[in-house]
Amino acid sequence: MTFEVTLDKSRQMYEKAKTLIPGGVSSPVRAIKPYPFYTASADGSKIRDLDGNEYIDYCLAYGPAVLGHNHPVIKAAIKEQLDKGWLYGTPTELEVTLAEKVAGYYPSIDMLRFVSTGTEATMSALRLARGFTRKNKFIKIEGGFHGAHDAVLVKAGSGATTLGEPDSPGIPADFTKYTLQAPYNDIETMTTIVEKNRDDLAALIIEPVLGNIGPILPLPGYLKEIRKLTKENDVLLIFDEVITGFRLAMGGAQEFFGVVPDMTTLGKIVGGGLPIGVFGGRREIMEMIAPSGAVYQAGTFSGSPCSVAAGIAMLDYLKKEDIHAKLNSTGDYMRTMLSEIVEDEGLDYTVCGIASMFKIFFGTEPHNYQEALKCDKEGYLAFFHRMLASGVFLPPSQFETNFISAAHSEEDIEKTLEAYMENL
Ligand code: PLP
Repeated sequence: MTFEVTLDKSRQMYEKAKTLIPGGVSSPVRAIKPYPFYTASADGSKIRDLDGNEYIDYCLAYGPAVLGHNHPVIKAAIKEQLDKGWLYGTPTELEVTLAEKVAGYYPSIDMLRFVSTGTEATMSALRLARGFTRKNKFIKIEGGFHGAHDAVLVKAGSGATTLGEPDSPGIPADFTKYTLQAPYNDIETMTTIVEKNRDDLAALIIEPVLGNIGPILPLPGYLKEIRKLTKENDVLLIFDEVITGFRLAMGGAQEFFGVVPDMTTLGKIVGGGLPIGVFGGRREIMEMIAPSGAVYQAGTFSGSPCSVAAGIAMLDYLKKEDIHAKLNSTGDYMRTMLSEIVEDEGLDYTVCGIASMFKIFFGTEPHNYQEALKCDKEGYLAFFHRMLASGVFLPPSQFETNFISAAHSEEDIEKTLEAYMENL
């Protein structure tokens, strides 16, 4: 089913774009080599480029488009809000409605604040954790990605790892001296680091499923052990559920694995595809945020009415239609079939994933960052291009997760499996 992909218009756009926007892209993960396709439109499970090529999309804007693109229910909610105005700079009933819904799904969240991105959410959560505990250090997981703010760009996953720059120049060493690193799925090393630093350790921030170098799953019991360890040592546990929130289940990874952190960050899906971030937690912690407390945080676009309206429509629809049951069973099917293909072809690859997240890892199954780095990155990139030529758009990096949406039909899935068979 390989088709002739002509990318003339995208190539021309790239030539122009790179004179105006560094690398021709607004975010590094989009910089496909030799040049990315530039998108004209997207609908359901399909994304279309400037040259009129159409691809089945498993990148899904890196996670938010859980219902597929341009979903009529979300679109109607945004349109309705547009008629009432899209930015007020004053509080709205919408925010209270969405806050109540989110808190209802996440037992770790008594109170929350809206921000505009996942980056802001983790930045604010960490500041609050430090303000609340009056301690300075925090632990992040090697290869974990929590956005692009200074304190977390250390051994960071996602584009930082893809581009080989997990530690960014431009961040003074002093700014990251309180950022400690621990390998994922290794409770012994974690225990040592926690116990050694506990007097000045505010928090442990972790993606419950490592989504930005994987997906890499927690080993059985790992998250529960992390919970116990942090509790025993007075360290706040922050689950960064920017990817997993409303993806694994309505209550995210904390519902899926039955582990309740002290604080949670959300983004992506919770805004229905419009910019949003959320950080929330126990009441006593959240009440330390200004204006009720002294820890400062603010934003012109925080709680942006269209994002909030889209988020409410998204959550209601996910719940009413029991979308996760469908998504997760499509994910199971996809992983089972891909495992068979990999086995039949006699390839030394691994199918990873959970719920509606999946990936073929070009190597043996990784359990942490160091193991993930051993994969065949170049082999994956060549495969990515073969898949694109077959009409399937996967995230352009071995380290990014593939997502399934509710818009992916059986026909899409079968076509995709055929493409895997042809191109692996
Ligand atoms: N946290 C996680 C787990 C993420 O995957 C991301 C982005 O991919 C972020 C935080 C940052 O979110 P944003 O890109 O909205 O700033």
